[in-house]
Amino acid sequence: MTLVDSLRTRTEGRRGTLVIIALFAALFLYPVVLPFAIYEQGVLLLAFLTALMAVSWNIVSGYAGYVSLGHSVFLGLGAYTGGLLAEKYQVNPLWFMPLGGLVAFVVATLVGMVVLRARGHAFVIITIALLLSMQVLVTNFPSITNGSNGVNVPLPFWSSDYQNMPFYYLFLVLLLATVAFAAWIRRTKFGTGLLAIREDEDKAAAIGVNTTRYKVLAYAVSAVPIGVAGVVYAYFLSFLNPVGAFALLTSVTIVLSALAGGRGTLWGPVLGGFVVSIVSEVANVYGGGSQSRLLVLGLALVLVVLFLPQGILPAVAARIARRQAAKKTVEYTDQTGVATKRTPIVVTPRSAPQAERTPAPLLEIRGAAKSFGGLRAVDGVDLTVEAGSITALIGPNGSGKTTLFNLVTGAMPVGAGEIWFDGTRIDRLPAWDRAHLGLGRTFQTTRLFKSMTVLENVVAPLPTASWGLMAKDAVSGHEAERARELLDFVGLGRFGDQQAGALSYGQQKLVELAQVLMLEPKMILLDEPAGGINPTLINRMVEIIRDLNRQGIAFLVVEHNIPLVLDLCDPVAVLSRGKIIAQGPPSIVRADPAVLEAYLGPEWLPAEPVPGAVLDQAALSAKGS
Ligand code: ADP
Ligand code: MG
Repeated sequence: MTLVDSLRTRTEGRRGTLVIIALFAALFLYPVVLPFAIYEQGVLLLAFLTALMAVSWNIVSGYAGYVSLGHSVFLGLGAYTGGLLAEKYQVNPLWFMPLGGLVAFVVATLVGMVVLRARGHAFVIITIALLLSMQVLVTNFPSITNGSNGVNVPLPFWSSDYQNMPFYYLFLVLLLATVAFAAWIRRTKFGTGLLAIREDEDKAAAIGVNTTRYKVLAYAVSAVPIGVAGVVYAYFLSFLNPVGAFALLTSVTIVLSALAGGRGTLWGPVLGGFVVSIVSEVANVYGGGSQSRLLVLGLALVLVVLFLPQGILPAVAARIARRQAAKKTVEYTDQTGVATKRTPIVVTPRSAPQAERTPAPLLEIRGAAKSFGGLRAVDGVDLTVEAGSITALIGPNGSGKTTLFNLVTGAMPVGAGEIWFDGTRIDRLPAWDRAHLGLGRTFQTTRLFKSMTVLENVVAPLPTASWGLMAKDAVSGHEAERARELLDFVGLGRFGDQQAGALSYGQQKLVELAQVLMLEPKMILLDEPAGGINPTLINRMVEIIRDLNRQGIAFLVVEHNIPLVLDLCDPVAVLSRGKIIAQGPPSIVRADPAVLEAYLGPEWLPAEPVPGAVLDQAALSAKGS
């Protein structure tokens, strides 16, 4: 992978890459061609710094969607680390650049581990609190930080003839390195996981993304380039004080840059950083000081939120895409999906062959219960799923089937009871650990990551907790290869590069199944796999389930299509008002009066009495009533 490759992303395309290369070539030549444009160099080098910070911010707040409003704290931390050490030992502060990054990383990790376990707005508040409290801390520990007297950083070692030129190049190189770093993250499975968290955090956890680890790591690595740059910034300023180094305005500028340019894109924050710093400089010069800068930036923020909610780059990209779409014919997303043939696949890696299995059931639910307020959605369910089986779970709407799935996969904590999977008690484990054990699920209403491509959706799951796997390339290489195989297996290989949201509902169900297969599951819970899709796709779905089952994957299937259930599944369990009222082979369950009354209706009564049915039926209905 070349640097240029790594800098290119889907949205920018080849022409965009050329523009970017030309722009940066011009920026590299600028001080050589115009060595005396001292003021302009000063403006530009601050634009590089702003862009660098916006690109870093984008890793946690653009990719993962967790907004940090105090990201300039890492600039201050880096600056103080480099500045204080350089002042004390009277050495060139640039030696401390790695240390600046490390301090930022450690602080972000510690703060992240405390706040990023939870969801929601706590993170935003804590990031501002962190910034302001650093300001106070640095002011109030003068023995270490010189307090409000500030830090005098040694002057540059180079001849004053060069003015700011070395800083110009330092910040430019750091900016490019940061962009390459962010681009690399976006290409890895770690990056795909961050996008998954932004789109649907529960779903991400269900496909094996350790969301806590991902969020903390995203926050920590997004602090590193800023911490490194902070050391250079200290050298550039040559004097530090707490209020200037930990400025709220800098944080606002970072957020505004990323939002204006295009949050979540690779080059948007760079563009935004340039635009915002230049606008703010103009406001400063022509408007008469920092008050007008605040006013202009505040106004810009309002305008961006109102008129460019996606940012400049995505808006431009969308316009170009629209113009190109008008020219060429778009590939038709066929609704049945029958146009593409399926190819066979081997799924054996983790699904242990039946011969090696212990006699214990693969999944064992003991007395599971869950209440919502006064409603007992799941009320003391005992259910086992044998390895190699296709077990059905049927019952009327609202009987608690989906809730039971949520308890098994960890989307909700159990109220009571125990759940065992493949010899491990799982009911206290987070959802991603259960996925790593080989437990996969699909959702009643499909939950693909709609803004990601079909291929990215299928590549996103992580079958293990390995750190190495997170660093693997998601866009090409082995992982993408496997995802393509899985897409071919469900017959949707053609659609890999389309947005997942553009597929038909039935196709999305198949993609979600391919996605679960990426987990190398031992067992898959299917929540209404045939619900709302056309008969052709139902047939394909059944074919796929049978094929996978033959290769050793067990299924627990919730489905209302009774002919399909009776044909595909054995045994069948019936849930009614949160309780299992019958369980056994299909022929017996369909003859059970309790089941007929609660769910199936009399038309399912078999024409001839089923041998053995009466006896078992009595036992089962006694249990149910
Ligand atoms: P099924 O999948 O069998 O149709 P569900 O498990 O979705 O049934 O729902 C069982 C009952 O629990 C329903 O009455 C439903 O309204 C309720 N329920 C499900 N999820 C929640 C929730 N998150 N909060 C409150 N009530 C819920
Ligand atoms: Mg349901």
